[in-house]
Amino acid sequence: VGEAAGQGASVMEQGSKAALGWAARDASGHLSPYSFSRVQRDGDVTIKVLFCGICHTDLHIIKNEWGNAMYPVVPGHEVVGVVADVGAGVTKFKAGDTVGVGYFIDSCRACESCRTGHENYCPDVVLASNGVARDGAATQGGFSDVVVVDQDYVVTVPAALPPDGAAPLLCAGVTVYSPMVQYGLNAPGKRLGVVGLGGLGHMAVKFGKAFGMTVTVISSSPGKRDEAVRRLGADEFLVSSDPEQMKAAAGTMDGIIDTVSAWHPLGALLELLKPMGQMVLVGVPSKPLELPAFAICPSGKRVAGNGVGCVADCQAMLDFAGEHGITADVEVVKMDYVNTAMERLERNDVRYRFVVDVAGSLGAAA
Ligand code: NAP
Ligand code: ZN
Ligand code: ZN
Repeated sequence: VGEAAGQGASVMEQGSKAALGWAARDASGHLSPYSFSRVQRDGDVTIKVLFCGICHTDLHIIKNEWGNAMYPVVPGHEVVGVVADVGAGVTKFKAGDTVGVGYFIDSCRACESCRTGHENYCPDVVLASNGVARDGAATQGGFSDVVVVDQDYVVTVPAALPPDGAAPLLCAGVTVYSPMVQYGLNAPGKRLGVVGLGGLGHMAVKFGKAFGMTVTVISSSPGKRDEAVRRLGADEFLVSSDPEQMKAAAGTMDGIIDTVSAWHPLGALLELLKPMGQMVLVGVPSKPLELPAFAICPSGKRVAGNGVGCVADCQAMLDFAGEHGITADVEVVKMDYVNTAMERLERNDVRYRFVVDVAGSLGAAA
């Protein structure tokens, strides 16, 4: 810490703010304290981080499973915090506002994706963590006491939502909500399948039920059945390794959101769709999945990918969550537990999202 802090202090430019985070330094993924600095420029909002969720993407990145880690990496892209300061020209937020920051914090604003409200697909999108900022510097995420983000990429967290339970909405929430709306999988009476009951999956169940859909969880963990049905309100629960259960549900679903983080066969899942049904992949296993053409061509089924959601979708999702009282089921932990939390996430031992109490771990009072 001392060495990094010294370097940070010596190069501090105007508007620079000292930041303390936890970073991974190599593919072991082990996280430890890391001092660096952030710069608030015109149009930027400086946010004191209250809570930050732990997404499986953070785990993929810090262990370099996707082969793109730029160490040191401060993970975290499910931030809820309070505005501490604003730069010149900021009109959307003021000190004291409760706000959120998700997977990306800037984009080019000029490309076709940006101009049509799909800035999450901008080729030059700036990710909140392990990304490259406009000035070429590596971005550092929300496992830190403070973040600085352009006002156009900050969202308002409704007062009705508790900040810890709301944090996972900023990635897990919008990543399932956005494709559900885009593909019409938000219509009462339609049948939705959710594959993988983890951070993303349990949010898909909650949004699906709030949309009035019939929701079936397809899981590799028979032990999640009771919670899926009793606590999360799923209508049905299928164990993906049970061919009888899978066969009985064949051809029943309008759409499927596949959130699985590891390699898994797609054929049996595609069988669950009605003709012309829509599968949306949001899980990003490092090993390529196999798409059997016979599972989609004769039935006109469709497979799409989805990457989080645009800022407007994120705000719409938060407003919807506020109206319907939707939050994540969270296990709140202190920062010094994150290495254990990552190990537990890796072995599928979390119901259903870890959230780091950042202010309670790194804040002045902690
Ligand atoms: P998570 O909490 O670990 O949930 C993943 C779930 O997948 C697990 O709970 C488990 O559910 C299932 N699963 C895990 N290993 C499996 C295996 N070998 N075979 C079958 N099922 C398995 O992770 P998450 O945070 O929800 O993220 C899920 C994936 O989405 C990750 O790959 C992440 O990088 C990606 N992601 C993508 C986006 C996007 O924009 N596209 C955004 C966020 C995250 P069951 O126990 O029910 O089987
Ligand atoms: Zn994420
Ligand atoms: Zn762009």
